[in-house]
Amino acid sequence: MVLYIIAVFHYYEDDKAMFIFETLLATGGLLNLLLLKLFGNVKLAENFILVGMLLLVIAIFINGGYENTGIYWIYTFPLLSFFIKGNREGFVWNLGLIAVVCFLVYLDYRNVVPIAYSYVEIRQSLLAYVIVMILAYIFEDALLRSYNKVSKMAVTDQLTGLYNRHYIFRKLSEEVKRARRYRENLCVILIDIDNFKSINDRFGHDVGDAVLKRVAEILRCNVREIDTVGRLGGEEFIIICPRTNIVGGRILGEKIRAVVENLREGNIPRITVSVGVGAFSSFDTPHELIKKADIALYRAKRSGKNKVVVYEILNPFINNKKEPAAVGRH
Ligand code: GH3
Ligand code: MG
Ligand code: MG
Repeated sequence: MVLYIIAVFHYYEDDKAMFIFETLLATGGLLNLLLLKLFGNVKLAENFILVGMLLLVIAIFINGGYENTGIYWIYTFPLLSFFIKGNREGFVWNLGLIAVVCFLVYLDYRNVVPIAYSYVEIRQSLLAYVIVMILAYIFEDALLRSYNKVSKMAVTDQLTGLYNRHYIFRKLSEEVKRARRYRENLCVILIDIDNFKSINDRFGHDVGDAVLKRVAEILRCNVREIDTVGRLGGEEFIIICPRTNIVGGRILGEKIRAVVENLREGNIPRITVSVGVGAFSSFDTPHELIKKADIALYRAKRSGKNKVVVYEILNPFINNKKEPAAVGRH
């Protein structure tokens, strides 16, 4: 729209060439929007905008513009190109513009295309252009860094550095879909520190926090790379284990239970954990899968803590008195 307005100005200033060029470009821009709406090809739209802008800047540069101010229009390009293309590709586009300007100067030197500026003017402008380009680069880089930082913070538990509840549920829902689609195993392991309240009460919150961090580290060090470890809240942790059946889940749970039980570190009081393991079966929702592990965890707590219990359906008619299968210290 701005381009249409500028084109009208040029029409009344009797600059027909610029009027036609800008009108075509502005119409191309509208067409671009239409294509984007119809086909949703963002990459194509981006390239179109950049090429359009590049052509416009070059045309104004050659044309000279009002009182030879056309050269200043090149400064609009760095911000736009870095914004659209990011740092690396944006940099290449900027080098492209500089190359075109140098080529035009060469053509002027060869008397092919007349340019309205003195060489000193062009040299100074290009130097200033490089500075603007560097500033735009730094700006984009800072933006990207803070974006990455914020994105990371949004999925991370501040105290332990593990994934937070929000991320865990998103991840679990993905893993459930994958397991269902490819008929794969999937296990969820819940880990809850035993009598944690009394640790806080006896040693204070700082020690409690140190315990949480240490347990988080143990979990992180003992899982596979494709497993996901998170803190669900308080002193309750979760591990999502893709391609792992109930036997594998129990083995991992037992390994963690044993490592925590045998932990001997000066500043960390002796602690134990209870572990509940749930395995995915074809129609479980993420919620149902966690529920299975939660029921198993509850049974581990009820049957004396510091043990691993895998979820299984108890038959109320046969052995409703018997405790569920449990490994670990009895
Ligand atoms: P159980 O063996 O049955 O799991 O008992 P518990 O005491 O571990 O469990 P309970 O749910 O009764 O208490 C959990 C405690 O965890 C309560 C709260 O003081 C503590 N807690 C929760 N979040 C934090 C935290 O971020 N830091 C610290 N230091 N303590 C926390
Ligand atoms: Mg607890
Ligand atoms: Mg708890």
